[in-house]
Amino acid sequence: MLEVSHVTKKYGKTIACDDVSFTLDSGSLTVLLGPNGAGKSTIIKSIIGFLKYTGTITVNGIPNKTSEARKIMGYIPEIPSLYPTLTVAEHMEFIARAYKMTDYKGRADELLDRFELSDKKKKFGDELSKGMQQKLNLCLGLLPDPQIILLDEPLLGLDPHAIKELKKYIEEMRQAGKTMLVSTHIIDSVDMLWDRSVIMQGGKVRANVSKSEIDGRNITLEDLFFEVTEGIEKQDVSMSENPESSEAGEGSAE
Ligand code: ADP
Repeated sequence: MLEVSHVTKKYGKTIACDDVSFTLDSGSLTVLLGPNGAGKSTIIKSIIGFLKYTGTITVNGIPNKTSEARKIMGYIPEIPSLYPTLTVAEHMEFIARAYKMTDYKGRADELLDRFELSDKKKKFGDELSKGMQQKLNLCLGLLPDPQIILLDEPLLGLDPHAIKELKKYIEEMRQAGKTMLVSTHIIDSVDMLWDRSVIMQGGKVRANVSKSEIDGRNITLEDLFFEVTEGIEKQDVSMSENPESSEAGEGSAE
């Protein structure tokens, strides 16, 4: 379990995260939604331990900045930072060494194959297109097979094949019991199975709902998003949009 408790992060006068609290249950997938500038990247960078903030973040009860906690977390940043003088294969080796992985080649090859980079192994970081850099960024984050995976806007810049493959991969990781946090500002992209949704706006958590709560209200995640971010309330479909049930005077949908 990962617990974010009363985290506040300021950049000068800008309050990027304002008393943010939420929990990632073990083995669950949480989507972190919010418009641009909501504070999504800031809270993810705080969780991984890159930023100074007030409040506490623990991973299975251990402070997030300890090496023990860091070992079980993987982070896939929104913007890849590759080494121009390392090849694709060398980037994979670099990460494998950093995580002291002894037998990484099979897994590295499988990832490069899935994200169509197998024929780019000898290319240098700065010889890759933007989309390829993004795909390598994913492969590097996934290589150590962490228990907790933080993906910041992972679909940005990917081609349709990579988007399909990544969604499939996320689903496989969910089945394998990984704990995941996936941030996005594009609600349409959340057409995968998720367990909980945290919606941020202006640095604050505006909603924190489970999938069953949304399903129970018969609204979509998009409906909820606009309800909390723009105050556009959508009545339960069962109450207002099902002419048959309202004509019949019934209040519940089938
Ligand atoms: P999101 O990921 O939801 O788009 P961010 O966490 O990137 O939002 O940004 C939250 C707020 O913090 C924004 O107002 C943004 O301008 C500000 N911010 C983010 N990073 C920095 C930084 N390095 N320096 C100053 N302000 C920043």
